[in-house]
Amino acid sequence: MFQGATIDKFIRKAISPNKLFLPLLDPEIGIPLRSLVRPGDTVRRGQVVAEATDESALPLHAPVQGEVISMEPLVVPWAPEPVETIVILPGKEEPPQPPQPSKGPWEPTEIRELLYRLGVLSIKLKVGSEPIQTVVVNGCELEPFLTSTQRLMEERTKELISGMEILLQAFQAEQAILALTTDEDELIADLQDLVFVKKRISFVNLPPRYPQDNPQLLLRSLAPRTTATIVDVPTAIAAHEAIVNHLPLLDRVVTLSGPAIRNPQNLEARIGTLLSELIAQCDGFAQPPGLIIMGGPMRGQVISSLEIPIHRQSTGFVFFPRRLRSMEEPCIYCGKCIDACPQALYPVLISTAVKSLDWDAAESLRVRTCLLCGTCSYVCPSRIAHQRYLRRVLERRTTQ
Ligand code: SF4
Ligand code: SF4
Repeated sequence: MFQGATIDKFIRKAISPNKLFLPLLDPEIGIPLRSLVRPGDTVRRGQVVAEATDESALPLHAPVQGEVISMEPLVVPWAPEPVETIVILPGKEEPPQPPQPSKGPWEPTEIRELLYRLGVLSIKLKVGSEPIQTVVVNGCELEPFLTSTQRLMEERTKELISGMEILLQAFQAEQAILALTTDEDELIADLQDLVFVKKRISFVNLPPRYPQDNPQLLLRSLAPRTTATIVDVPTAIAAHEAIVNHLPLLDRVVTLSGPAIRNPQNLEARIGTLLSELIAQCDGFAQPPGLIIMGGPMRGQVISSLEIPIHRQSTGFVFFPRRLRSMEEPCIYCGKCIDACPQALYPVLISTAVKSLDWDAAESLRVRTCLLCGTCSYVCPSRIAHQRYLRRVLERRTTQ
């Protein structure tokens, strides 16, 4: 759906950024980071510049060599307040380093430790008290317009499978499953060749049914009776780079697409590059953007600035020419939102409760099991913005 603009375009390396911005707050779980550098310091590419205050978050590495020119507050969409940010002025481009050969064989704890130190995988989040039996790699990409995961799977298939082997070892798991939704025969053939001799690695090509790419739903359908963990495709590839080539996570492939952008692309950008610099590499806008979404249109977040940096979880940005008015109409009690909800919730009742500020009623309707997938909003003929109401009650709960 709408993937056509970028699905067949090779990933392009973004040109070196003018400045890099590294906010001192983990974008995924909101844990603060502690800076290890000060304005005036020179940094090497790959040097740790900030450490996590808790091991659920990951350390930050300098994506380029250069100079720290300031520490300044930056408004970012993943924090309610401006976040103190390391600003790096890149120096001369370093020549590519030859890969450092692995010093394996590795113990699982050593692999996990190295993946953590190189900014790939959090120790605390991914290894609980129960041994992990199944590692699921989420290659399903069902958000309209986004294709960065699909392109990575097609262009870095070997690295992906190597990363899955490393994750198997790191978790001492019994099996690793790649879940994807693709109609690319060549990718399927490559995967078949690569996993043919690997007993514990498999892949499953699922029907492209949104919101099947939700991690909870995938784990429920693929690993229902095992202890399982899930990572995305960029993380599996980063695991390969970390263990095989000793490279920290410095880049991210992001899709820039949507009807307002002139030349939609998948760009491999240094973490910390401003979105505005990437738009220039897509030849700017064909029409002034009225609606910008970080992530996909279904689950993404509307943003109002182009001066925000790429972070290690960025997947893409979608640009529309104008903001669509919601023009909510009264509910006609068709029940479509209820039928469509993968969590068997009653979105119509939850939204009504939120509109009347009846938080207890919303809680009693199991709102906390909502995946914020947006399917209910999408199917509603009255254009009721359920997702907005759901987010309101969920955010209220987490900030209390
Ligand atoms: S966003 Fe809507 S459809 Fe999706 S889980 Fe929540 S209530 Fe159900
Ligand atoms: S889909 Fe919309 S109109 Fe239909 S019951 Fe749900 S809220 Fe009402």
